[in-house]
Amino acid sequence: MSETTAKENMQFQTEVNQLLHLMIHSLYSNKEIFLRELISNASDACDKLRFDALSNDALYEDDSDLRIEIECDEKANTITIRDNGIGMTRDEVISHIGTIAKSGTKEYLKNLTGDQAKDSQMIGQFGVGFYSAFIVADKVTLTTRKAGTDEAVCWESTGEAGFTLETVEKAARGTEIVLHLKEEEKEFANDYRLNSIIKTYSDHISIPIKMHKRDDEGKLTDEWEVVNQANALWVRPKSEIKDEEYKEFYKHISHDWQDPLTWMHNRVEGNLEYTSLLYLPSKAPFDLWEPEQKNGIKLYVQRIFIMDDTENLMPRYLRFVRGLIDSNDLPLNVSREILQSNKVIDSIRKASIKKVLEMLEKMAKNDKEKYQEFWNEFGRVLKEGPGEDFSNKEKIAKLLRFSTTKEDSDAQTVSFDDYIARMKEGQDKIYYITADSYVAAKNSPHLEIFKKKGIEVILLHDRVDEWLVNSLTEYDGKSLQSVAKGDLDLGDLDTEEDKKEQEKTEKDAENVIKHIKEVLGDKVEDVRVSHRLTNSASCIVLNDQDMALYMQQLMKQAGHEMPSTKPVLEINPTHPLLTRMNDETDDERFAEWTSILFDQAILAEGGQLEDPSGFVSRLNSLMLDMS
Ligand code: ADP
Repeated sequence: MSETTAKENMQFQTEVNQLLHLMIHSLYSNKEIFLRELISNASDACDKLRFDALSNDALYEDDSDLRIEIECDEKANTITIRDNGIGMTRDEVISHIGTIAKSGTKEYLKNLTGDQAKDSQMIGQFGVGFYSAFIVADKVTLTTRKAGTDEAVCWESTGEAGFTLETVEKAARGTEIVLHLKEEEKEFANDYRLNSIIKTYSDHISIPIKMHKRDDEGKLTDEWEVVNQANALWVRPKSEIKDEEYKEFYKHISHDWQDPLTWMHNRVEGNLEYTSLLYLPSKAPFDLWEPEQKNGIKLYVQRIFIMDDTENLMPRYLRFVRGLIDSNDLPLNVSREILQSNKVIDSIRKASIKKVLEMLEKMAKNDKEKYQEFWNEFGRVLKEGPGEDFSNKEKIAKLLRFSTTKEDSDAQTVSFDDYIARMKEGQDKIYYITADSYVAAKNSPHLEIFKKKGIEVILLHDRVDEWLVNSLTEYDGKSLQSVAKGDLDLGDLDTEEDKKEQEKTEKDAENVIKHIKEVLGDKVEDVRVSHRLTNSASCIVLNDQDMALYMQQLMKQAGHEMPSTKPVLEINPTHPLLTRMNDETDDERFAEWTSILFDQAILAEGGQLEDPSGFVSRLNSLMLDMS
């Protein structure tokens, strides 16, 4: 027998302190969800033991009847949640219960506002698990013994001032949590109340949840009875599962506090046999953009939980999908290595992607509002799709939504199909512009001729867009054309008259162009008359293959080597600035005008000037000259 050591005082990680503080002070509604969170953990612990015991039966210690027990003591004002799952070692208690391992937590918590309503919403998105015990308790005692070991440890905390840790005697394997309720929360130390909370939130847990049985007179006995359905929800026929049950199950497996947006439940029979239950969350989780994702799809084999999988069952561009897949064809001892190259997994993955995309397509068609909600949360992730999943490119492209010059907001609501339906007669291309913000895109000088002619242009202003248009070069047989790249040819959209006028302007501008070219030298690839500008004096045009200037900037900042691209400068000879330059006789002055013209165009593109202070002093000198 191990000896009992002295109590040790330890501190929480700063982030835990912050969370606990919030928990205690801002979660007022739905307090009863603490029980759901603790039962969820207990059920996970049983799942883990069952999985480990597959390869090491001794871990059961002759007790393979996995269960969760809940009891309360009205007099002592306590609730006890007990499981005979995997348990924790001393080190695990310290690292799991004293710290938050989720990457990105620190950054996320910085967003806390102090506004209780907003912050509690944020906590919901974050998911707080075990710590939710402190919503109702002012002291929590956790005693645990890991399966296969004989050292048990007792953790205790009042939530505010760190925690104590002590080695103790504990015969039973698993974890027991005693909540010492706050005086004002004593309503929870009531058997009926707890029973009804379990029915509401945890009925779907597949491990039996037991409470004390009552005798005929309603008195509690020492006997236990199962109070939940205690079978795997996804095994039941769809028609028998209520929406509420699907929702609660989602919260259990996703650790999300909010309802899902939608879900789909499929049983596949035939060559392969598996069941999938996949959910779309209604809000993006806080770590959606973290490179390492913790959540994903849960893999079960014949109802036994095997592992959380973040890479094999769903592609990156669908990483927001939550849920589970339960296969009958995989061996129970399947490992991560096996998953990476496994025919069964490949087929399940392919079919699941197809299902998710079909579900989105259906939603986009039948419930536009809901689809918009989805798009606003996850659209930027879906945009990674065409680059990642060649075989589903067209399907994904159909699901994309954009802001355009025809809509007066940065909301992304227009599909390619909408765009095509409104194309002008004679238009055979889908026009777009990329920029690093909506405003920059909307006000770009490159759009001037399109505005004048009433041609709609897609405004791309998400980081991922530049990659998107790299991998998506056409839709429905129409090529995607940047209005800021290449030599603009509007084809049939230009009238004969337009073309004649352009020729004349070009002829008239020959001199000034020649002069500008001399000044700029090899800073530019070419200088030419613009057919895009109607109001602005100049703009920068890149080659079709070049990355937009603002993106080049970002890449450089991120430490990537970028080949320096030479832009084309386009000028608008009808602009007063150019008329004035045309009349300039002083070569030095002309060179200054040229410099400014070029720098302005770079700035409007979101690029960075090589010599910003030179630009400012030239501008000032010319301004003074004009006054
Ligand atoms: P989450 O469940 O989201 O990981 P929690 O704060 O609820 O976050 O729990 C942190 C970790 O503590 C769990 O991942 C698990 O490893 C461990 N844990 C919590 N409750 C139990 C339990 N009843 N038995 C074993 N381990 C547990």
